[in-house]
Amino acid sequence: MNILIQNNISLKRFNTLRLDSTCDYAITPLNIQGVIEAIQLTQDKRRVILGNGSNVLLTQEHYDDSTAFILMHRLDDLDIQDNEIVVEAGRTLHDLAWFTMDNEVEGYAFCEDIPGTVGGALLMNAGQWEYTISQYVNWVEVVHCDDARLERIYPQEGFFGYRHSGFNTMNAIIVRSGLSITHGNYNDIFEKSCTTNVNVI
Ligand SMILES: Cc1cc2nc3c(=O)[nH]c(=O)nc-3n(C[C@H](O)[C@H](O)[C@H](O)COP(=O)(O)OP(=O)(O)OC[C@H]3O[C@@H](n4cnc5c(N)ncnc54)[C@H](O)[C@@H]3O)c2cc1C
Repeated sequence: MNILIQNNISLKRFNTLRLDSTCDYAITPLNIQGVIEAIQLTQDKRRVILGNGSNVLLTQEHYDDSTAFILMHRLDDLDIQDNEIVVEAGRTLHDLAWFTMDNEVEGYAFCEDIPGTVGGALLMNAGQWEYTISQYVNWVEVVHCDDARLERIYPQEGFFGYRHSGFNTMNAIIVRSGLSITHGNYNDIFEKSCTTNVNVI
């Protein structure tokens, strides 16, 4: 099974503002083949891709089945392969930060408290302080919405800008990325995560 299709559901838990919009048609891909199938099934519909839903505003109370919501949260594999992090688009930045720390990889502490998924972060080149996700990108895989073709992109200079990327003008769904690894020391990384993300209450 590659996809889960749901009808008439609340989108409340898929947006951080907890807006209780409902929709007639939602697809949850369970893997990259599922994204391809989701695109093939929705050629006649307007598509809305939701990662963590922290940068979207649902303006309608109800979306009829002319709109298909594609919910990315189950596309969430995260691993180290051939000395790079390979992460699927629906994995949260929070998980990425703690995974890198557990594996003594430096540089990802800035992701810890940005409420988003890797896909959403790549689309808008999320970041904080002097760091952005684009600094770590080796490649990104997308599935094109017009022909459901999977493509691996190696972003060149100028592809990413401030809270912007070439994906903004690409009619495609981001599915997976290879991110670079710089090895560090667990205690140093832990200290950085805790001191930079401290909440003063
Ligand atoms: C409290 C708060 C704090 C924040 N702090 C920061 C911060 O410090 N730095 C920062 O950069 N941002 C910040 N943001 C903004 C937000 O967290 C980021 O933009 C985040 O990267 C969005 O990811 P998401 O998964 O929530 O995207 P969503 O909100 O789900 O989607 C945003 C856009 O990306 C598209 N999209 C999502 N996933 C995919 C995909 N796989 N393929 C193609 N398109 C996709 C959606 O269709 C939509 O257009 C903050 C937001 C909030 C609410």
